[in-house]
Amino acid sequence: MIPGEELIFCALGGSGEIGMNVNLYGCRGRWIMVDLGLTFADPSYPGVELILPELEFIETQQNRLAGIVLTHGHEDHIGALPYLAEELKAPLYATPFTAGLIAGKLEEEGLAGHVKLNPVERGGTIELGPFRITFVALSHSIPEGNGLLIETPFGNVFHTGDWKIDETPVIGEAPSTEVLREIGDDGILALVCDSTNVFQDKPSGSEDSVHAGLLAQAAEAKGRVLVTTFASNAARLQTIGRVARETGRQVCIAGRSLDRILRVAQSTGYLIDFPPPISFDEAMRLPKTEVLIVATGGQGEPRAALGRIAGGTHDLKLGEGDTVIFSSRVIPGNETAIGRIMNQLSDLGVTIVTERQAHVHVSGHPGRPELVQMYEWVRPEIVVPVHGEARHLREHARLALSHGVPKSIVQEDGDVIRLAPGEPKKVDEARVGQLVLDGDVILPADGATINERRRIGYSGLITVAVAVDREGQLAGPPLVRPFGVPVEEDREDFVADATDAATRAYSPGGDEARTREAVRLAVRRCATLWTGKKPLVDVTLLAVR
Ligand SMILES: [Zn+2]
Ligand SMILES: [Zn+2]
Repeated sequence: MIPGEELIFCALGGSGEIGMNVNLYGCRGRWIMVDLGLTFADPSYPGVELILPELEFIETQQNRLAGIVLTHGHEDHIGALPYLAEELKAPLYATPFTAGLIAGKLEEEGLAGHVKLNPVERGGTIELGPFRITFVALSHSIPEGNGLLIETPFGNVFHTGDWKIDETPVIGEAPSTEVLREIGDDGILALVCDSTNVFQDKPSGSEDSVHAGLLAQAAEAKGRVLVTTFASNAARLQTIGRVARETGRQVCIAGRSLDRILRVAQSTGYLIDFPPPISFDEAMRLPKTEVLIVATGGQGEPRAALGRIAGGTHDLKLGEGDTVIFSSRVIPGNETAIGRIMNQLSDLGVTIVTERQAHVHVSGHPGRPELVQMYEWVRPEIVVPVHGEARHLREHARLALSHGVPKSIVQEDGDVIRLAPGEPKKVDEARVGQLVLDGDVILPADGATINERRRIGYSGLITVAVAVDREGQLAGPPLVRPFGVPVEEDREDFVADATDAATRAYSPGGDEARTREAVRLAVRRCATLWTGKKPLVDVTLLAVR
C-alpha cells in the first residue's frame, strides 16, 4: 500500500494492546513513523523477555519512510529502536532527554554511528516530506512528554503521545493551554489520543501532590525507608530527593536503570539538585533513621534491586521496623510477582505502604475529565483512540462522541485508515504481528522455535538413541534419556521400561522412517502410562560398524 493523494493512519502496534507503540502516517508517497516501542513478555513466552513489533509492512517500502519521530522515552515508545531502527535506515527525531535515553540504548547495542539520531529542541518543528511536525510539550510521568502537531496537505493531526494534565508537574513547565487552544483554532482534522485511563472517572492528579504523602510516610518511619518507583519518573525522584532532605535522610540508589536515568537527566538539565547518593556500605553503617533507599523492582521483577533486597541477596538489608513504599501502580499481570515480594518483606518485619494506604502515586495518563478537556481545547473533527486494548479504544470512541466530537474511528493494529479526503474509513489492511527477542535472535513470536519451547516446557522431552549394526539388528539396548518428565525417583525403572518398549518396537530391516515412528510411539505410550503426560520423543537411529 503506497499512500497517494490522501492522509493515511496505520498503527502497527499499540492499538488493541497496551505496549509496543508504532504508528504510521502516510501522504503523497511518503511515510513517517511515530514511536517504535516494545512490550515485556509474559510467562507464555518461556525464556523471552522482550516482544517487538513486526514491521514488514514498512520495511518493504523503507525508502518511502522519511523519519521516525519519538514522543517520549518510555520503553513502549522507544524500546524497539536498538533492534529494529537500523534496518529501517530512517533518521530519528526526539527532544534532548528522550534523545539522551535513545543514544544510551544505541551505544549499548553498538549502533551509535549506524542510526542517525537528531535531537530537536522542545517546541521545535521539523519537516519530513509532506509532513510538518511540531513537538508540543505535555505532562507525563517522564520528562519531556510530547504531543505532535502534524500538519499535512490534507489537514492537521494532533497526536498526543502519552499525556496528562498537570499544573504543577515538579519537573518542567506545565503545558500551555494557550498553545493547545491555538492548535484547535487552526483546525484539527484528527486527534490521535492516549486511551490508557479512559475507565478512570477522576483526573490523574498532580505529580506535586505526591510530596505530602511521601513526606508523611518518611517522617513517621522509625527505621530505614525504601521507596520503589519507575526509574524514568524523574519528577518522582526529585520529590524523593526533597523528602530525604526534609527528613534528614541520605539517599542511596539501588538499581542500574536508576543510575542511568539520573545520568541522562542530569546531563540534560534535570535533577541538578538531587542529593549526592551514598554507597550501600554507608547506607548500612548510618543510623536507620538517616537512610532513604530508592530502588527499582516495584513491579516484582525478581532480579531487580527490591526483589534481591526482599530475598536477602542484596548488600542492602531490610528488617523489623523498616518501611517500603510502593510509589507506583501495579501494571496488570504483575500482581503475583509483586505479591511474592511483599510477602517476603512482610516476613522480614517490614511495613509496606502502597497507594491504597497513602497518596504516594499519581498516574501519567489522562482520566475522563482530562480527555474531555483535550477535546475542548483542540476541537477535533475525528478522534482516533490509540494506546489501549480493544475495550479502552471503544470506550474512548464512545466518550468522544458523547462530548461533541463529530466522528471517532475504532481501529486496531494493521487497519489502514484514510483520514482524508472524504469520510474517514478503513481502506486496507497491513500485515502486523509480534516478534520475540530470544537471546540475540529476533524470531516470530508464535513460530516454530517458541512453540517447540512451549511444548518441551509443558510436557518434557525424551531422547532415544538406537544403535543399529550392519545387518540392521540392534547393536545394543536403545539409550533413553528423559528431560523434564515427571518420573523423579522412578527414573531408573521408567528408563528400563521405556528401553524395553523401544527394543520391542524396533523391527530390523524395515523402512527407516517407519521404524523411527514405531519406536517414538512406543516410548511415548510408555511415558503416558507412567505419568499421564505426552512428552516430545526424539528418536535417532545410528549405524555402527
Ligand atoms: Zn509513556
Ligand atoms: Zn505509553
